Amino acid sequence: MEIVEDGPFRYRIPQHGPMRVPGVVFASRYVLPEAAGDQALQQVVNVATLPGIVEASYAMPDVHWGYGFPIGGVAATDVGASGVISPGGVGFDISCGVRLLAAGCDRQELAPRLQALMDVLGHRTPRGPGRGAVWHVGRSQLDHILEDGARYAVECGHGVQRDLNRCEDEGRLAGALAAQVSTRAIDRGLCQVGSLGSGNHFLEVQAVEAVYDPDAARAMGLHEGQVTVMIHCGSRGLGHQICTDHVRTMDQAMSRYGISVSDRQLACVPVESPEGRAYLGAMAAASNYARANRQLLAEAAGDAFEAVCGCGLDLVYDISHNTAKTEIHRVDGNPLRLCVHRKGATRALPPGHPDLPHDLATVGQPVLIPGTMGTASYVLVGVAGGGAFHSTCHGAGRVRSRHAAAREVDGRQLRADLERHGIAVRGTTLRGLAEEAPLAYKDIDAVVQASEGAGLCRKVARLVPLGVVKG
Ligand code: 5GP
Ligand code: MN
Ligand code: MN
Repeated sequence: MEIVEDGPFRYRIPQHGPMRVPGVVFASRYVLPEAAGDQALQQVVNVATLPGIVEASYAMPDVHWGYGFPIGGVAATDVGASGVISPGGVGFDISCGVRLLAAGCDRQELAPRLQALMDVLGHRTPRGPGRGAVWHVGRSQLDHILEDGARYAVECGHGVQRDLNRCEDEGRLAGALAAQVSTRAIDRGLCQVGSLGSGNHFLEVQAVEAVYDPDAARAMGLHEGQVTVMIHCGSRGLGHQICTDHVRTMDQAMSRYGISVSDRQLACVPVESPEGRAYLGAMAAASNYARANRQLLAEAAGDAFEAVCGCGLDLVYDISHNTAKTEIHRVDGNPLRLCVHRKGATRALPPGHPDLPHDLATVGQPVLIPGTMGTASYVLVGVAGGGAFHSTCHGAGRVRSRHAAAREVDGRQLRADLERHGIAVRGTTLRGLAEEAPLAYKDIDAVVQASEGAGLCRKVARLVPLGVVKG
C-alpha cells in the first residue's frame, strides 16, 4: 500500500480502486500501526469505499485494528446524498467514554489515606464481566435511563445540575428509541446500571503532574499536584447486544439498497432508511445508558472520597469516544449535514463552538485521554482549525493483543512493579492485569505529541496514576 508523507504528523493513502476518498493518517513514523499483523491501515482503505463518505477516511495516532472500522477511525457520510451509518463505525461498546473528576485535595494530603481510599473504591465499584451495579432498577426506570441518560440519574438525586453542564450533550443524547432495543439487550442492561465492566475499563485515582496551559487548566478546575479521578466505561452488555442485533439486520438489508462492502463487518445502510433510523435510535438509547452509568460510578467515587478524605469530586468533563452523531460541517465550502462516526476517537470542539458549556466557551472542549495504569494520561483541548471534523485520539492504542500481552507479562510481577512505583492496584485477576500491561499499548506521550503536532488538539495537563480499580 502506498503511503505518502504529506506534512508533519500527516500521512495520506492515495485514492485507489473502489476508494471514494483518500485515507488520511495522523501519526509520527513511530506510532504508525506497522506492528505485524495489524490490518488497521487496510481498514482505513476499506472505510474509504463506504457510500456517501466525504473528505477522507481518517485515522488518529492511536489507530489500531478493530471490528470493520479501525479503532481510532473517523468517517463522515453525507446524509442528504444517501450516506450510510455503520454500527462497526461506532463499535460494540456504544458511547464508551471517559469522565474526569477533580478532587478537593492534593496528592500530599491524600498520601496517608491512599490505601484506605483504594480499599473503599475497590469495594464499592461493581466490576468484572458479570453482574453487579450501584443502582438496581426495574424496566420502567431503565426506559427513563435509555431516554434521558445522566439527566435522569441527576433528576433521581444522583448528582447535581452542574454535572450535566459538564457532560457532552448535557448528559442526554436526543432521539433515543427504546422500542429499537431488543429484549435481550434490555435483559443484559437491567442488572448493570452503574458498573465498570471488564478489560480496559477502569477507575483511576491520579495526580496532575504537569500543567502546560494554566489558563485552560484553571477554567477546567485543575492545578498541579491536584488529585483527579478518571472513569473509563461504556454501555456494558446492553450496547454490545444492540451492536450485534443491528449489524445482523443491516447485513441482511444492505443489498436492498444496492450496497455491497468488501468486509461484512462494514455492514451499513443509508442513515435515512428505516434500518438506519432504528439503529440510531437504539444507539442513542445505549449512549444514554453509558452516560448514566458514568454518572452513577462518579457519585459512588465521590461518596468514597467524602468518607475517607473529607472532600468531594467536581466533574471536569464527560466525553464519549464511540459514537455516531449528526453534525453540520463545511465540505468544499458547503455546509453539509453529516453522520460523523468516531470510533475510538474523541470529539474536540474549538473555542467559541456553540455546544460548549459557557464557562468553557473561550477555552474549548476538554479532551480526556487515558494512557495506561503504569504511565500517564492527558487532558487536551480542542483547537481552532482542528481537522477530521473536530476529532482527535482517544487513548494510547493497543499494539499487542490481550493474548500476546498475557503471554509476555507475568501478572504478579507487574502488580509488584506498579506497587513499587506507588500505584495501588485493586480488582481484576493477574491475567487480566497482564492483558492490560503498559507494554500492550503505544507510548501515550508519543501519541499525544503526534495529535498536537498534527494540529488536532493542544495539551493542557499530564496526569499520573496513584491507584487503579481495574474492571
Ligand atoms: P478503549 O476505549 O479503546 O477500550 O481504551 C481506551 C484507552 O484506555 C486505551 O487505548 C488505553 O490507552 C487506555 N487504558 C487502558 N487501560 C488503562 C488504565 O488502566 N489506565 C489508564 N490511565 N488508561 C488505560
Ligand atoms: Mn469500552
Ligand atoms: Mn473506551
